Amino acid sequence: MIIRSFVEPPIDNNNYLLMDEASKEAVLIDCSCYDEEIEVELKKYDAQLKYILLTHGHFDHITGLNDFAGKAPVLMHENDMEWIRELNTYLPMVGMPPMETPKIDRFIKDNEILKLGSIEIKVIHTPGHTQGGVCFYADGNLFSGDTIFREAVGRCDLPGGDFNQIVESIEQRVFTLPDNTIIYPGHGSKTTVGWEKQHNQFL
Ligand SMILES: [Zn+2]
Repeated sequence: MIIRSFVEPPIDNNNYLLMDEASKEAVLIDCSCYDEEIEVELKKYDAQLKYILLTHGHFDHITGLNDFAGKAPVLMHENDMEWIRELNTYLPMVGMPPMETPKIDRFIKDNEILKLGSIEIKVIHTPGHTQGGVCFYADGNLFSGDTIFREAVGRCDLPGGDFNQIVESIEQRVFTLPDNTIIYPGHGSKTTVGWEKQHNQFL
């Protein structure tokens, strides 16, 4: 599996493009901004975008969706629909222009398996940063959105946030993965499960 990361506006968001060379299938994890480089990568491997997967519904992870509309179905956990519906309440608060409410094509559930060619992508529901927050686990890699960062955890002071719940999500669903699992967070640099068990002072 090929993993490409793109650091995008509005808040240095990490968007990840996963590609399976054998099947030429690709998925984009989070969609902060349209980036031609993503198209370039897809062309380079002759890959087709199969899904756009959202780790959660916060504005900074979805503001590129309308520019990708029609390219692939958009999948998210249902519990974050409030963030989608209220998007134009939040955008002005952060100085961003309103946008058309993006379309979510399908809801994903805890433990659901999505296929990228023969690679399995497992949905792990990790509420706490938002109620619909999920991580995606594929081939020893965890795409954690804003649930866990290198030596930090996602903020819990926004609507739907719950610190005790995020700690429980991480301890029960992330720290039960192998220590050498590479964590690719929604912001900042990558880390591993083993490193976070030793060094994450929030846990
Ligand atoms: Zn967030």
